[in-house]
Amino acid sequence: MKELVCPHCKEKDIKKDGVRTTEKRGKIQRYKCKLCKYRFVVDDGFYRMRNKPEIITMSIDMYVSNLSSRKNEKSIKQTFKHQNKSYEHS
Ligand SMILES: [Zn+2]
Repeated sequence: MKELVCPHCKEKDIKKDGVRTTEKRGKIQRYKCKLCKYRFVVDDGFYRMRNKPEIITMSIDMYVSNLSSRKNEKSIKQTFKHQNKSYEHS
């Protein structure tokens, strides 16, 4: 983990200040600067790693739904072709 510095005063004397739970990100470690009492959160690699499986699942879902919609589009076009031949020009 990279060295933490206060975003407000660049002080390196930082302490943990509890965990904040959010709906989208889950649990986030909060920090507090001992010098200026500024409280902040750090978006570190651990957060991204934890959320990676979710992102992959989401892209697969999007890919599959994209595939099935393409398939549907093709079958709709084929059905339409039989009914109206002028459709081929468009
Ligand atoms: Zn500070």
